[in-house]
Amino acid sequence: MQNKNLSQRDQEHLWHPLTQHKLSPEMLAIVRAKGSILYDENGKEYVDGIASWYTCMYGHCNDHITQRVAAQMQQLDQVVFSGFTHAPAVELSEALMKILPENQQKLFFSDNGSTATEIGIKMALQYHHNLGNDRKVMLAFEEGFHGDTFGAMSVSGLSVYNGAFEDHFIEVVRIPVPKRGNLEEILKQLKKLISEFNIAGFIYEPLVQGAAAMKMYDPAGLEEILKICRENAILLVADEVMTGFGKTGKYFASDYMQIKPDIICMSKALTAGLLPMAVTSCTQQVYDAFYSDDIAKGLFHGHTYTANPLACTAALAGIELLTSEEIQKDIQRVMQSHKEFGERIKAHPKVANMRQLGVIFAFDLDVKMERYGNLRNQLFKHFMDDGVFLRPLGNTIYISAPFTILDDELQKIYKSIESALGNFG
Ligand SMILES: *Cc1c(COP(=O)(O)O)cnc(C)c1O
Repeated sequence: MQNKNLSQRDQEHLWHPLTQHKLSPEMLAIVRAKGSILYDENGKEYVDGIASWYTCMYGHCNDHITQRVAAQMQQLDQVVFSGFTHAPAVELSEALMKILPENQQKLFFSDNGSTATEIGIKMALQYHHNLGNDRKVMLAFEEGFHGDTFGAMSVSGLSVYNGAFEDHFIEVVRIPVPKRGNLEEILKQLKKLISEFNIAGFIYEPLVQGAAAMKMYDPAGLEEILKICRENAILLVADEVMTGFGKTGKYFASDYMQIKPDIICMSKALTAGLLPMAVTSCTQQVYDAFYSDDIAKGLFHGHTYTANPLACTAALAGIELLTSEEIQKDIQRVMQSHKEFGERIKAHPKVANMRQLGVIFAFDLDVKMERYGNLRNQLFKHFMDDGVFLRPLGNTIYISAPFTILDDELQKIYKSIESALGNFG
């Protein structure tokens, strides 16, 4: 067995996420990561152009974060968070309150983005239940993505992958995302849905729909939708799992909006890519609906590793970096760099729907798909051969690299994209 490499040994027992193993048996073994670079078991280097699914925004194995967590490890590793509390959780709550929208007041911990949204949905449903309102339906955007647990799957736009589970979903009604020209129609549809269904909450990815291929949409349109929901006592659940922590150029995408959410779901970059954790925050008003002499009105949801001290410490160290002048400068630098790259390629005949918000940059490769049966996989291979880890979504190419990415690493990504424009056409 020892003369097999990791990729080969992987195939004996491992079952990977989002993978049809019969079609894609082979996994690439990564043995090390530092800054924006991943190293595979053969020694090849890749620039991590998507910050490993937008998690390690301060670079891999960031010394500030790993040292803080190593010290915490000697102090307190884990303790039950029901009946106990600890400094990393308290300090993280204070740090988060300084960067979250002003109306947020209470934090509920869990382990990943799906559980963060699951809890957001449960908060919205039980809020109305506790108030004696008969509201059991959720409102969501078409093509939204909120995770893979049952509640999260239910509110996500129907996917071909969900076929086996659809009969077990909670009830959800949907509206399209606002684009130029369709807002009036959406608002009409929304008012009709509100009159026909008892809607408890509206869950939305503010301004950027990540899994829907970095779709960016109209903030003014979102504002109108949020306004109508708020007027009708529909709780606003912002899924900032992808957009949170500086990627849009502000701490949260909701910072661009006048109307602030009642509930915010956070994960991914929360813990800077070191450990899994999530937080669902809410307003005092939401919390008060659960605060009661009646034990059954509490939120009886809990995970074993809730508010793990190491994960809280990683999050705290991450927020220290995010709010530092250095990282704020990096964010501006990467934004400007993407902008200049966008200027360079925008006139290219294969570049369509170019878009950017903060450090998130995307465009669609405008080629005839049938000429490239498996365009997406060919693109992926093109980038990896160049030593660039980008993960195209269909024909959408996007960059969401660490804030700390070096200029020459950015140029390596751009160069590979430009040669892809030459190769696929
Ligand atoms: C990734 C993601 C999730 C799910 O998070 P997991 O940690 O993968 O469960 C939910 N919502 C959005 C917007 C995401 O990008």
